[in-house]
Amino acid sequence: MTHFETQLVHGASIDDNSTRAVNPPIYNSSTYAFETVKEYPRWDYARSGNPTREAVEKQVALLEHASVGFAFSSGLAAIHAAFSIFKPGDHIITGDNIYGGTYSIIHEYFERWGLTFSEADTTNEEALEKAFVEAEDSGHPARAIYFEVLTNPLLKVSDVRTVVRVAKKHNALVIIDNTFVTPYGQQPLDLGADIVVHSATKYLSGHSDIMAGVAVTNDAELAQKLYFALNRVGGALSPQDANLLRRGIQTLALRMERHDSNALKVAQWLENNQYVTHVNYPGLESNQYHKIASEQLRSYGGVLSFELDERVDAEKMLDSLKLFTVAVSLGAVESLAELPCRMTHFELPREERLKHGITDGLVRLSIGIEDVEDIIDDLDQAIHAAVRETAVREAL
Ligand SMILES: *Cc1c(COP(=O)(O)O)cnc(C)c1O
Repeated sequence: MTHFETQLVHGASIDDNSTRAVNPPIYNSSTYAFETVKEYPRWDYARSGNPTREAVEKQVALLEHASVGFAFSSGLAAIHAAFSIFKPGDHIITGDNIYGGTYSIIHEYFERWGLTFSEADTTNEEALEKAFVEAEDSGHPARAIYFEVLTNPLLKVSDVRTVVRVAKKHNALVIIDNTFVTPYGQQPLDLGADIVVHSATKYLSGHSDIMAGVAVTNDAELAQKLYFALNRVGGALSPQDANLLRRGIQTLALRMERHDSNALKVAQWLENNQYVTHVNYPGLESNQYHKIASEQLRSYGGVLSFELDERVDAEKMLDSLKLFTVAVSLGAVESLAELPCRMTHFELPREERLKHGITDGLVRLSIGIEDVEDIIDDLDQAIHAAVRETAVREAL
């Protein structure tokens, strides 16, 4: 029998089969013992892999109908891995409305390493076809198309089947950022996508308490390249965060159902609000993407955006919110609100923003799982608190 202090260091046996623990243990170990010098252990060093991370990688692969999954320390680390499968000279087409950090890693990092990029509106088949033809005509046929099925903050919806059809015709890989849709909404690998990535910081973990990313695929060669990026660049998910991600994922369907039903009620309420000129949410029947979204997605998600008319001071409206937290990020149990022109999309020049439809009065909401009446009451009081005095006087 070892002494107490020794037991503190070595703990109990971590033989999972003997403990019969309900949950996979959190293996806080950077290194693993060799039985003998000649016998290479299943686990040797935690950057290369550890059982806690593997548990969540297997869970995510299962959910996305992939043969293999990898868990990264952030969504951008996973996205970096997806782009790192290419080599200098390769051309990639991206959606024309992608996450700002992805836009930045493409133009400020991967272009320096010799990749070239062009953009296309992936909601428009003709525009997409044209982008592929243009790339071919310029002597650099696109090796891949990278896009988000639901865009941020305008919630445009791309038809994955159409994008896959066009891309395959041109022998290009299809890489999808499925963060906003989640595997609850759609599993793009089933529709022909080659790699799916996530910022698991959002819906997959669901509680705004970790940063995480995942990449999944069914292709052994792509898997090897993704694993190389994970293991050699080293942006691997820690065991603690792997466990939180695993636990968060357990309630994904419950959360998505509530996000979805709450967001639809909020969108309908906003649509009927006299100070709101436009609501972007594909769950609304009036939305131009409603048909495609209802055919293809099991959930419209919890993110929506809307335009306030000029009688309301959008900044003041946000500052008047009490239940909502004014913050970037999305996809967690609590409701968040933000002003894209000042916050998430502040780095884009104003003309660029306006070109993409991100006006100064556009507000983005990530609807949480609270009671929807409380969410709507908060929006109602905040909008009224932000009506400009001139508008109040005119109404008298
Ligand atoms: C947040 C986000 C990312 C980046 O993920 P991080 O976890 O913040 O690194 C990528 N894509 C989308 C769609 C996102 O919302």
